[in-house]
Amino acid sequence: MKRNIAFILLLTQMYFLMGMGRVPLVSDQKCALCGREVHHDMFANLTFKNGESEPACCLQCAITYEKQTGKKAEYITVTDYYSHETVDSQKAFFVIRSNISPCCNKEILRIPNGNALMLKYDRCLPSIIAFENKDNATKFMTEHGGTLETIQDIRSSD
Ligand SMILES: [Zn+2]
Ligand SMILES: [Zn+2]
Repeated sequence: MKRNIAFILLLTQMYFLMGMGRVPLVSDQKCALCGREVHHDMFANLTFKNGESEPACCLQCAITYEKQTGKKAEYITVTDYYSHETVDSQKAFFVIRSNISPCCNKEILRIPNGNALMLKYDRCLPSIIAFENKDNATKFMTEHGGTLETIQDIRSSD
């Protein structure tokens, strides 16, 4: 019985942690790939030749969307992490593998008995954070680590 209660507490806490999202950009917009809500600081948008577009929670999902559906975007816009301005992904600076991953739950979940659960896989990892300005990207890296890449680097690395 005690075990069951502990398990329920664990589930409740995990559910709570997973629900701690950020304020969505547009309440009814969900990532076309993973279904997560899209957020101001990570939003990516794919626009296709026929003018249609699909929202993605981050560039990682936008690129995976292209691979999985075979629908290559004419262009992808991303959102500056600090200003939330829309930026052409070809011109943006990306910090990949920093310790910030806004799409995901915390990488380590503390459970009530003090043990930690590690998040092993998430389609939004490693996180890709976009900046319009290289100085801001560099500044961000001094605090959060990661490496600076262009969209070409990211596309060619997998
Ligand atoms: Zn997504
Ligand atoms: Zn994402």
